[in-house]
Amino acid sequence: MRWWRRAPAKSKRNQNTHMKTSHTPGPWHIQPSSSFDASYVLIKPIPGQVVAQVDKLPEMDANAALIAAAPDLLEALKFLDDNDRITCENADFEIPAGECPCCGCKARAAIAKATGE
Ligand SMILES: [Zn+2]
Repeated sequence: MRWWRRAPAKSKRNQNTHMKTSHTPGPWHIQPSSSFDASYVLIKPIPGQVVAQVDKLPEMDANAALIAAAPDLLEALKFLDDNDRITCENADFEIPAGECPCCGCKARAAIAKATGE
């Protein structure tokens, strides 16, 4: 029996599916408020303008960290998707669009939410 090498899977990487960036490019950083009361922190690219202001709530530091990480999180998800690493685990089942609870569909939903698609 002779074995044939399978043709490599088509990667989305060269299809430029996610090449368009509509948000301010990362990385984003957290800049503490310069005011005395420190009632907010700013999320900024460095150098750059303010992307977001995070008001002082009990969760301010965690909120700021999450927002500052957004470009990195999106880039990681797009990288996985471009390399065909995001797939629906329930593709054999008929599940209404947007209701599949699998990791792949949650990842795709997060990309769509982040990109407004
Ligand atoms: Zn799924």
